Amino acid sequence: MKKIIVTGGSGFIGTNFIIYQLNNTSNEILNYDKLTYAGNMQNHKGSEKNRNYSFIQGDICDNNKVKKAFSEFRPDILINFAAETHVDRSIDGPDIFVDTNIKGTLNLLKVSSEWFISNHAFKFIHVSTDEVFGSLNLNELPFAENHPYKPNSPYSASKASSDFLVRAWNKTYGFPSIITNCSNNYGPYQFPEKLIPLMISKCLNQKPLPVYGDGRNIRDWLFVEDHCIALNAVIDKGKLGDTYNIGGDCEMENIDIVNNICSLLDQMKPRKNGKSYTDLIKFVDDRPGHDFRYAIDCFKIKNELKWKQQETFHTGIKKTIKWYLENEGWWKKLQIKNYNQERLG
Ligand code: NAD
Repeated sequence: MKKIIVTGGSGFIGTNFIIYQLNNTSNEILNYDKLTYAGNMQNHKGSEKNRNYSFIQGDICDNNKVKKAFSEFRPDILINFAAETHVDRSIDGPDIFVDTNIKGTLNLLKVSSEWFISNHAFKFIHVSTDEVFGSLNLNELPFAENHPYKPNSPYSASKASSDFLVRAWNKTYGFPSIITNCSNNYGPYQFPEKLIPLMISKCLNQKPLPVYGDGRNIRDWLFVEDHCIALNAVIDKGKLGDTYNIGGDCEMENIDIVNNICSLLDQMKPRKNGKSYTDLIKFVDDRPGHDFRYAIDCFKIKNELKWKQQETFHTGIKKTIKWYLENEGWWKKLQIKNYNQERLG
């Protein structure tokens, strides 16, 4: 049994990670989350009944609050999901990305180091993105762990900076940390500003489906539960000081993702007017500095930690659409409260 502080545990991946931990391990979880627009208390209505779950509302930049959480909970592990995560928002307002993603990570490192130095066995897992590596052409090899960092958006620049801080803490102070860089996730509980839930919710609202540029940008896609299983393997077997790439071996153009969602919804929830959802697709101005292609080489985690994706895109996207159909109340409430699906960036 391990005691794990999960920062950002009320966001998309953090929620899925906590649910996975509570269902599959006997680990005790403290969810430490500021509850920004992206964090949702409702996600853990089920977890709250579990005696291995507790919650503190707090900012990772708040030194005293993080220290108090450490001294009261006495963690063996901290896994850091807390971040500002939307590229378009980082174009309009980069400051909060610097505050949370860089200064917040710095604060977590400082508090965690003190905890580690006072003789507590401890591990720090920093969850990051493949976007730190920049953009690939079609003929370039996927990002391996030693690919140079070339972040292009304020979001990816802030995540890259936080990765460098974690790396520096390991190299300079011998701090027991591991970094993971994962490709695009999809699945239940994703805030409806990101491509897949945005398209599903727009379809169900009978609204135009805005596709950036010509829709040919390529991302690698991973079902979120597979990411949680990979992180569990990193916690249990990952080598301190190392980084692990995590991906879906599933490169797809954005337009193919949108077409896939439309044709599945045509079967699962046909439109009343008898037309296909593809009629709603509308190409819009591209995102400034839009990276063309991300692709991830995850040979290392497969080989060393024996992790493997369980879902294909075909099975994962079906599960995801089914979840959004069955949980309309969840995403409709967010649209009213926090976000009216306007174009950002
Ligand atoms: P999300 O935006 O859904 O959730 C972020 C969570 O962090 C929210 O609950 C929010 O309330 C919390 N938070 C934000 N600022 C905070 C602060 N200052 N203090 C405490 N909590 C704060 O994000 P996500 O998609 O779940 O991503 C989680 C992590 O995984 C991020 O670090 C992201 O960079 C990384 N990542 C995401 C993806 C993806 O496809 N979503 C892929 C690779 C890596």
